[in-house]
Amino acid sequence: MTFITRFAPSPTGPLHLGHAFSALTAHDMAMASGGTFHLRIDDIDQSRSRPAWEAQIFDDLHWLGLTWPEPILRQSERLPRYREALSRLWQMGLLYPCACTRADIRAAASAPQEGACLHGPDGLIYPGTCRPATPPTGAMPEDSALRLDMAGALARLPAPPDFTETGLGPNGESGLITSANMARTVGDVVLARRDMGASYHLSVVIDDADQQITHVIRGQDLFEATQIHVLLQDLLGLPRPLYHHHRLIRDETGKRLAKRDDARAIATYRAEGATPADIRRMIGL
Ligand code: GLU
Repeated sequence: MTFITRFAPSPTGPLHLGHAFSALTAHDMAMASGGTFHLRIDDIDQSRSRPAWEAQIFDDLHWLGLTWPEPILRQSERLPRYREALSRLWQMGLLYPCACTRADIRAAASAPQEGACLHGPDGLIYPGTCRPATPPTGAMPEDSALRLDMAGALARLPAPPDFTETGLGPNGESGLITSANMARTVGDVVLARRDMGASYHLSVVIDDADQQITHVIRGQDLFEATQIHVLLQDLLGLPRPLYHHHRLIRDETGKRLAKRDDARAIATYRAEGATPADIRRMIGL
């Protein structure tokens, strides 16, 4: 079986032990299957991405002993490709412009209807303030946030989207995972941000398809978002990779490592004289 996977960090801070675990796991699994490991730079959020962090990513990963085919794919260079996919969804009548601020959503969500979920994989579930009664017509706006009409999207599909999990979700989920009630539990997610042109969910799905990724290997923190990704694949007629979510590396208090955990940055360990083998040992690989 073909095995093509990727590690897709965002260059918004130093790589830490959690990234090392993710990159090494994906790389080791690809090598064990005679497959391909891609490095992809998830720099769609240009307000937070920095060339210096990207350079550090290359340096740290090479130091860890990883190699990948060149040239690599960078999201910042692919906006037209994402807009093309958005425009297809727009023509299907599944997108609408949204002008709500985070504060607007917080205010509306603080008086939820009975039985409504408050939080989904993307934070607060959108209360539907800007959702039009009928799909908007005319040209897709260039400079506004666009949301997916989740109920409309689900109505397009013969069955709720599902995917095969070969690792483990945060609650031990594995095997065939079917999403239920996404209109209620996920809601109308943002697929284009005003300042970004495309959201993470949209760009990751297009990139995985264009790179013919067969195995998505990443942390359990993205398990819940996977239902959004497979829904988008179904709407856009894209192939479905297998998904393998892995455990997260935590600090001694049990908290997941974050970019600001400089103390656990790979660069810090390198500066202190650690070897790649030491890093593998620290993360149990
Ligand atoms: N860029 C994402 C992150 O750093 C990972 C995307 C993915 O693996 O799907 O969390």
